[in-house]
Amino acid sequence: MAEEVDVVVIGLGPGGEDAAGRLAEAGLSVVAVESRLVGGECPYYACVPTKMMVRAAGLLAEGGRIPGMAGEASVHPDWAPVAARIRDEATGGWDDKAAADRLTGKGARLVRGHGRVTGPREVTVDGQVFQARRGIVLNTGTSPAAPPVDGLAGTPYWTNREAVQATEPPASLLVLGGGVVGVEMAQVFSRFGSRVTIVEHGDRLLANEEPESSALLRDVFEREGIGVRTGVAATGVAYENGEFTLRLGDEGIVGDRLLVATGRRSNLKGLGLDAVGLDENARGISVDGHMRAADGVWAIGDITGMGAFTHVSMYQAAIAVRDILGEEGPPAVYRAVPRVTFTDPEIGSVGLTEAQAREQNLPVCTSVSPIPDSTRGWIHKTGNDGLVKLVENTEWGTLVGATAAGPSGGEVLGFLAVAVHTETPTASLREMIYAYPTFHRAIEPALTALAR
Ligand SMILES: Cc1cc2nc3c(=O)[nH]c(=O)nc-3n(C[C@H](O)[C@H](O)[C@H](O)COP(=O)(O)OP(=O)(O)OC[C@H]3O[C@@H](n4cnc5c(N)ncnc54)[C@H](O)[C@@H]3O)c2cc1C
Repeated sequence: MAEEVDVVVIGLGPGGEDAAGRLAEAGLSVVAVESRLVGGECPYYACVPTKMMVRAAGLLAEGGRIPGMAGEASVHPDWAPVAARIRDEATGGWDDKAAADRLTGKGARLVRGHGRVTGPREVTVDGQVFQARRGIVLNTGTSPAAPPVDGLAGTPYWTNREAVQATEPPASLLVLGGGVVGVEMAQVFSRFGSRVTIVEHGDRLLANEEPESSALLRDVFEREGIGVRTGVAATGVAYENGEFTLRLGDEGIVGDRLLVATGRRSNLKGLGLDAVGLDENARGISVDGHMRAADGVWAIGDITGMGAFTHVSMYQAAIAVRDILGEEGPPAVYRAVPRVTFTDPEIGSVGLTEAQAREQNLPVCTSVSPIPDSTRGWIHKTGNDGLVKLVENTEWGTLVGATAAGPSGGEVLGFLAVAVHTETPTASLREMIYAYPTFHRAIEPALTALAR
């Protein structure tokens, strides 16, 4: 016998947890289904623990910058407080009791297990059948994906999930993949004393960012002693006597640990999507501006392919909730999705890269302003690597994309995100007053250069 409820949410990533809680608070009967941890990847294995690692690594780097600037300092990395903080403060020992209590406290019913769509508006969780009068929200997220490299399967390689549970830094670390996860982890472990080499088959780090950001990060990494190998493919992996050998054609490089950071796979397999006319072999689920994927089905988060970020998942959750409650509201707009790679320098960006704008045949003008050339960058001195890059649509006279890389790049990004989102004319941006001497003042010469 099916039990009737208003809404079933399958998967409780940041967006699913938020949507289930809001719908319950609005008075609906909500069943929230989770097979692992309430809150999803972000609080336990991704955003939060990795940013604790980044914070600790940043402290070490700043300590190392004292000589020549502010006296003497000798810095001795110790991973123990980092591991303890992640275990105790961030994840409660990878226990979701606090999140589960928060959710049920809002009135949702938590059902643990693997949810499967078994018919229109019907979900089955380990034999329990729910009929959802209003519909189903899918927020099943992603899992780490390993490439089909010979010998890799079966070795004790790390993904982000193992890396955040490390109790000590490895003496040497091979990082397969030079995307966001790979570069953040590489710099963290390097600053804690690991010998790190990144192997990336594309021709640059952070392939989705501006080439200037990739070059900047590579330069910083190489100065910090991180090995960066781009344009090389891993052809095989061996694990013997506690050591990994990564084959790169004729050459082999060795490391105590291997972190595979080559991307993510949507958790759609076994979700029963054909019952509602959707394809679980697809890379993701297409949604309209109100997050509707099919009749009585909403999808949010990474599986929608609109930006694999917690802030996108939460943004979409709010829109789906509004739609389920029958409230009016504007559809989702992805013109100004902000993204930050939390390396040092931070790489913050929003909207289109220059290449993406040109692919869309937009009339484009760009400019770059180096942070060291700004007064604040010059004052900052050591650790001042960075740049601002603007991408203007010359027909509209507005920014369609921007990058703020450097100290606090993710914070400087806030200004640029507003400019892209509101489509403020660059002429107006040029008339503003920029506080002296801030890092964001480096935006001004970049705007001036656009007008030339
Ligand atoms: C190392 C790393 C660092 C990151 N850092 C950042 C960052 O700094 N900032 C940022 O914005 N983003 C970051 N991200 C991305 C961020 O973690 C995700 O975008 C975010 O978690 C949103 O994902 P989601 O809502 O799609 O669901 P997820 O967080 O992936 O959660 C989905 C949940 O659904 C559950 N589930 C799946 N299938 C079923 C099923 N059939 N039945 C029941 N439950 C199911 C899973 O167990 C999981 O708990 C990072 C990612 C990684 C890997």
